[in-house]
Amino acid sequence: MITALRGMKDIHFEDAKKFEKFLDIAVDTAKKHGFSMIETPILEETGLFLRSVGESSDIVGKEMYRFTDKGENDVCMRPEGTAGVVRAFVEKKLDRTGGEYRFYYFGPMYRYERPQKGRLRQFHQFGIESFGESSYLEDASLINMAAMIFDRLGIKYSLKLNSLGCDKCVPTYKKELVERLTEISAELCEDCQRRINTNPMRVFDCKNESCQQKLFSLPRITDVLCEECESDFDGVKAALNKIGITYEVDKNLVRGLDYYTKTAFEFISTEIGAQSSIAGGGRYDKLVESLDGRATPAVGFAIGIERISDLITIDEEKRGGVYIAPLCEEAVLYAFDLSKRLRQESVTYLGYSAKSPKNHLKAADKQNALWFVGIGEKELQEGSVWLKNLETKEECSLSVAELKSKIQGNVK
Ligand SMILES: [Zn+2]
Ligand SMILES: [Zn+2]
Repeated sequence: MITALRGMKDIHFEDAKKFEKFLDIAVDTAKKHGFSMIETPILEETGLFLRSVGESSDIVGKEMYRFTDKGENDVCMRPEGTAGVVRAFVEKKLDRTGGEYRFYYFGPMYRYERPQKGRLRQFHQFGIESFGESSYLEDASLINMAAMIFDRLGIKYSLKLNSLGCDKCVPTYKKELVERLTEISAELCEDCQRRINTNPMRVFDCKNESCQQKLFSLPRITDVLCEECESDFDGVKAALNKIGITYEVDKNLVRGLDYYTKTAFEFISTEIGAQSSIAGGGRYDKLVESLDGRATPAVGFAIGIERISDLITIDEEKRGGVYIAPLCEEAVLYAFDLSKRLRQESVTYLGYSAKSPKNHLKAADKQNALWFVGIGEKELQEGSVWLKNLETKEECSLSVAELKSKIQGNVK
């Protein structure tokens, strides 16, 4: 028997219902914020991720599904969604219009890592990318969007917020940070030592207790923001206060990559493991430029679906739809024709062969149908149907025209 690959999972039944519920809510919320759908290929040129996510990251360094295709192209299955959307944005020359573009996407991402609970090699993300708007209100609007999605799903969260500065304030800060880190380099873990030269701000992300103690007294970028970053950061906070979204400023929240600027945020759940990130995002005002586009302000976030799947609850399903039961051989095709007409409006199940009412009722029950429509010889002669409400057990005989309005709830 062939089974799914390690770290890859089929999504059906309960899981599929959770996916559908999440997607309905997420897409609706995104549309209400003025976003439209974008779908980019799963397979991209590897260079795209080397240049955007960066070679020093684990994602690109260790976890990519990277291979050479039959045309000798170095390709990669996307490990995340932002790079592809930015590529599409630049390829379509939208960066030259000076306009604003807002996209949402949903799909599978691939990372070759050790599978564990809530972490798969093929996992799904819902993401948002907004281009062309530099106002801090766009940052707040995106945070509101993520919050709204979690609220509508009934998922509790806490929100961490930080600013990562910009080209004006980061370089001086970084230079000093590297100097201070070099002084204490011997006392830091190997990862942190490596980060000094690749991603110095990333050290604050280190999970190593002893590193945290050594780094405790070092200044954070948030302490030395330039005037513009400071006022934008204050703006985001004021906007969130105004709409009643609580947050905590976390100066250790860094995203490490060079193109991240200003606002960074993370939604945390305490209901799945200790402190699990369920959504992350922020501003990346330099990414479009780094992928050969014109400098364009941008902000986005992504939600990992498998991560939150356990937190999504499915309502108990009510009976719904119509089950059509041919009770004699002559009624089979008649019933088939009726199903075609009813399916224009209602969920309709159909028995394909003539059976006793008892057997058909069993099948209707299995489908959780609300209405049972029986058609036997008598009904064929009269041009009527036998209708039973499987919840109230009421039954009656009526014409096909009456049936249509009855099951639509027009007649009580
Ligand atoms: Zn700045
Ligand atoms: Zn460390």
